[in-house]
Amino acid sequence: SEMIRIENVSKRYADFVALNNVNLTIEAGAKVVICGPSGSGKSTLIRCMNYLAPHDSGTIAIDGVEPKGRRNIEKVRREVGMVFQNFNLFPHLTVLENCILAPVQVRKLPRARAEALARQFLARVHIAEQANKYPSQLSGGQQQRVAIARALCMEPKAMLFDEPTSALDPEMVGEVLDVMVELAGDGITMVCVTHEMAFARKVADSIVFMDKGQIVEVAPPEQFFTAA
Ligand code: ADP
Ligand code: ADP
Repeated sequence: SEMIRIENVSKRYADFVALNNVNLTIEAGAKVVICGPSGSGKSTLIRCMNYLAPHDSGTIAIDGVEPKGRRNIEKVRREVGMVFQNFNLFPHLTVLENCILAPVQVRKLPRARAEALARQFLARVHIAEQANKYPSQLSGGQQQRVAIARALCMEPKAMLFDEPTSALDPEMVGEVLDVMVELAGDGITMVCVTHEMAFARKVADSIVFMDKGQIVEVAPPEQFFTAA
């Protein structure tokens, strides 16, 4: 089934066209890597996928639903997890509290249930032992793994990653990519903007290449890397 369907989507910032009539369908369980030059619209496209950025025209449906109105858009945003370049953890909350906040406040889960989920996903990203630390006490790679766990605690239908390793010191990149490779094996729908081509080759079902606000090629990694 189709998890994310993007039809004829365009978006501009003032008179700059960031997305120019983009079409893309992402099947449930698919692993998609989006690449392309800086400024080509990758980040804009992935932000449109969870309605973090509004598109100007066209259709974006999540799991068959095109949300209309603020309530439905907020629901979709909960169903599609997002991991950012700069972690975006709450600095005044511990790792555990970062993970519990949205499940309690947004999903209205009982605190004990939210904490159980948080501990499960912190273990999944191999950082359970840091649960009571604050983000500033962790390395960048550890913070990004917490950000991944936090997104997973919403039990999303799909996970979006916007250059998740770009802000990391080189020695931390591997630990984050390793966790993402493991997650890919869990069967979740995954869309990732990244320049990490070894990662793409390992996990992607398809690679989407963007240029100047358009998708110029969609191909499986084998084909993509030989054609390039
Ligand atoms: P990429 O992720 O491929 O680097 P982006 O989607 O971030 O591309 O940006 C595409 C273009 O849109 C860039 O030229 C960028 O400067 C511009 N842009 C992105 N966000 C904004 C914004 N909020 N306001 C104005 N221009 C923006
Ligand atoms: P990324 O490629 O990861 O989006 P950028 O440096 O392009 O990183 O953008 C960082 C932030 O600044 C984003 O939220 C983007 O929307 C915004 N932005 C990017 N370009 C512009 C621009 N020309 N004018 C206003 N905001 C912009």
